[in-house]
Amino acid sequence: MTDTVPANDPQTAIRAIVERIEPALIEIRRDIHAHPELAFEEVRTAGVVARELQRLGIKHQTGIAKTGVVGLIEGGRPGKVLIIRADMDALPIHEQTGLDYASKIDGKMHACGHDIHTTTLLGVAEVLQKLAPQLAGTVKLVFQPAEEAIGGMKVMLDEGLLDGPKVDFALGFHNRPNSRAGEFTFTKGPGLAAADTFEVTVHGKSGHAAQPHNAVDPIVAAAQLIGQLQTVVSREVNPMHPAVVTVGMINGGHAPNIIPDSVTFRGTVRTLHAPARDIAEAALARLCAGAETALRVRCDFSYRRGVPALINDDAVLDPTVDAVRKQFGDVAREIGPSMGAEDFALLSQLVPSFQLGVGSGAPGGTEGLHNSRYAPDEACIGLGVQALSRAALELLS
Ligand SMILES: [Zn+2]
Ligand SMILES: [Zn+2]
Repeated sequence: MTDTVPANDPQTAIRAIVERIEPALIEIRRDIHAHPELAFEEVRTAGVVARELQRLGIKHQTGIAKTGVVGLIEGGRPGKVLIIRADMDALPIHEQTGLDYASKIDGKMHACGHDIHTTTLLGVAEVLQKLAPQLAGTVKLVFQPAEEAIGGMKVMLDEGLLDGPKVDFALGFHNRPNSRAGEFTFTKGPGLAAADTFEVTVHGKSGHAAQPHNAVDPIVAAAQLIGQLQTVVSREVNPMHPAVVTVGMINGGHAPNIIPDSVTFRGTVRTLHAPARDIAEAALARLCAGAETALRVRCDFSYRRGVPALINDDAVLDPTVDAVRKQFGDVAREIGPSMGAEDFALLSQLVPSFQLGVGSGAPGGTEGLHNSRYAPDEACIGLGVQALSRAALELLS
C-alpha cells in the first residue's frame, strides 16, 4: 500500500490517512482504556506512546515530568513551533460500563476520556509525520501525565517544555460528551476557571453543651462564617465576572452534648478573571479576621492558588476553528465558559493557546465526564485527528 498524498488537497489527504489508520487507533484506545493509570503512574501508557512514536520514526523523549513523553515533528520548511497537547491519566473510579474492553484495574477508569486524547494525538502524529513536507515549522507532541491531579503540566514546564525548540503557541483539546461526535466547540477568551482552595480552622473553647456561656462555640461561629462567605460572590465581585465559592467539607465535634474546641472547613474558589480572584481571596481573609472580633473565636485561614484561568487566544482559536470548518463544513459552534479547571491553563498563561472541544456524545446520549458509565463515541478519535491535523497545517502554513 502506498501513502502518496495529494499535496494540494489537505482535506482529502488527511481524511484518507485517517480512514486507513482509524481501526488501529481504536485498538490502541481500547488497550489504553483497559489499563488505566493514575497521575504520575502512566508507565504503561507512556510505553504505548513511545512504541508508536518509535514505529512512526518520530523523534521523542520519555521520562519528562516522570511519565510524560514529548515527540517532535519537523516540517519541510522552517517556521513557528506549535505544541499539541494530550493528557494520559485516569481517575480513581470503578468502571461500570460493562464494555468488553472495560478497565481491568479495580478502582481505576478512563472516565475523563484521556485515553481518547492520548490516542487522538498518536493519530495526529501519524498524519503530520506523513504531511511533514507541507509543514512550515515544528510540531511538539506533548503527552502529559497527571492532569487530574492538576500537577503534570507544571512539572513539564519546570523541566523546560517551552524550550528546545522554543514554543510559539499551543493547541489543546478535550472530549465533550454533551456534543455529538462530529461537532466541535470553542470559547473565546476565558474558557475554564482558576481553581483555588482554602481551609479555615475556627478555634473556640470546648465545654458542656448545656453551659454555652462558659464556652466559645466554634460550630455557631463556623456556621455564621460560611453563610457570610456566600456574600463574597453576591456583594463583592463584579457581577459581570463569574465566581464560585463552595465549601465542600466541614468537620467538627463528636457528641451532641459537647461544644468542641474547633471546626475545620475547606472549599474552592473558581473565577474567570484576575480581579475577581484577588477580591475573593482578600474578602475570605477579611471575613475570617472579622469573625475573630465578632464571635470571640480564633481563625486559622490558608488560601492556596491552584491553576489559573484557561485563556483562549484568537491567534490560535481563529485559524483552528477555520481549519475545522474547512475540513468538515459548519460543525463548530461557540459555547460559554465553564467553571471547571484544567492545567492546560498554565500553558495558556505563557504562550497564545486554545483548547478545542471535540464532541464525543453517542447518538443515544452519553453519561458525563467522571461518570463510572462514561462511554464516548469512538468516532470522535478519527474526527479529532482530522481536526487537529488540519489545524496544525493551518497554523504552520
Ligand atoms: Zn477530568
Ligand atoms: Zn479531562
